[in-house]
Amino acid sequence: MFKVNEDYLKLPGSYLFSTIGKKVAAFQEANPDKGIIRLGIGDVTQPLAPSIIKALHSAVEEMAHEETFHGYAPDLGYEFLRSAMAKNDYQNRGCDIEADEIFISDGAKCDSGNIQEIFSRDCKIAVCDPVYPVYVDTNVMAGRTGVYDAVTETWSDVIYMPCTKETDFAPELPKETPDIIYLCFPNNPTGSTITKAQLQAWVDYANKNGAVIIYDAAYEAYISEEDVPHSIYECDGARTCAIELRSFSKNAGFTGVRLGATVIPKEVKCGEVMLHSLWARRHGTKYNGAPYIVQKAGEAVYSEAGKAELKEQIAYYMRNAKVIYEGLKGAGYNVSGGVNAPYIWLEIPKGMTSWEFFDCLLERANVVGTPGSGFGPSGEGYFRLTAFGSYETTVEAIERIRKM
Ligand code: PLP
Repeated sequence: MFKVNEDYLKLPGSYLFSTIGKKVAAFQEANPDKGIIRLGIGDVTQPLAPSIIKALHSAVEEMAHEETFHGYAPDLGYEFLRSAMAKNDYQNRGCDIEADEIFISDGAKCDSGNIQEIFSRDCKIAVCDPVYPVYVDTNVMAGRTGVYDAVTETWSDVIYMPCTKETDFAPELPKETPDIIYLCFPNNPTGSTITKAQLQAWVDYANKNGAVIIYDAAYEAYISEEDVPHSIYECDGARTCAIELRSFSKNAGFTGVRLGATVIPKEVKCGEVMLHSLWARRHGTKYNGAPYIVQKAGEAVYSEAGKAELKEQIAYYMRNAKVIYEGLKGAGYNVSGGVNAPYIWLEIPKGMTSWEFFDCLLERANVVGTPGSGFGPSGEGYFRLTAFGSYETTVEAIERIRKM
């Protein structure tokens, strides 16, 4: 008889957003007349920008002709996209990253989940708490996290770095030394950021302790303040200790189109072994490349017209963030985030759990948000709202919450 991977059985409950989806569906079925506003899942709502649509159409047309048809994409991505990224995301910002250090993929979720495969099962991970759930869950699946304690909602072999209002929603250097450190700034779910000096301290710590940082920069495009780094490679020494994840989902609305990238400088090594070579091997073996038409659409993100259109799109979402932030603050809530990120992190009234607040908001305001505890134990007491709705529904949602 076959056996299953028992590490999967250790995963508690279902995935956060499936639970929310089920609760919302049940509420809608019981209350078909209620107009629910969804500010929960971090999915975009604006259509793709004109330059991207144009690039998609033109690439589709190429696929219709023998001379311009494209089959399998190169494992690591088309040169035109890797060069555009190297230039615009890195070299123009003074970061020393070459096109051949960028691996194109179909998004940061897969990459952030798969990257752990190239590390030993013995490696100890450190994560921010609260955190994007994929980092921990994929390490659970790989058998790297020890035993789950249902009371504290923590794993025995994971180093948790609480990010609460006491730490200004930033992680502190852990007492126990990790091998792999997951950082994500601007942060999902708290919407917080760290300064370049703070990030430099992490890079120095990782280099000193022989750790690797997996830096998720999925929300980089939302940074509005000067001192906030757009890439970890802005820090000295990051080329020897950092992997960076990039996504086209939130900067260009590609959640349904699917495109991302992982950057691994050739200097990140374990002894003589380059992580770059391991990831290249993994990519070549398990992945057949993001579609040509999607990579052409990705290239359009870096065109002058594309950049201008996307700047406007981000400004649209950030106007929503301001509506949420100021509306809730005006209603007496403690709120953070929403300045360099499309997420607003709200402290819920004392005496309620974040799931109770979720139910209350759904029932009384018909607004869906995300309970903070779904992102880790230190998320208890908080609630995430996203700026990805339309302006009108966002204004309406905040009005409803204020009246609650
Ligand atoms: N990383 C973080 C921190 C995210 O919040 C998300 C999506 O919400 C992703 C990665 C996934 O990005 P993608 O759509 O590129 O898979």
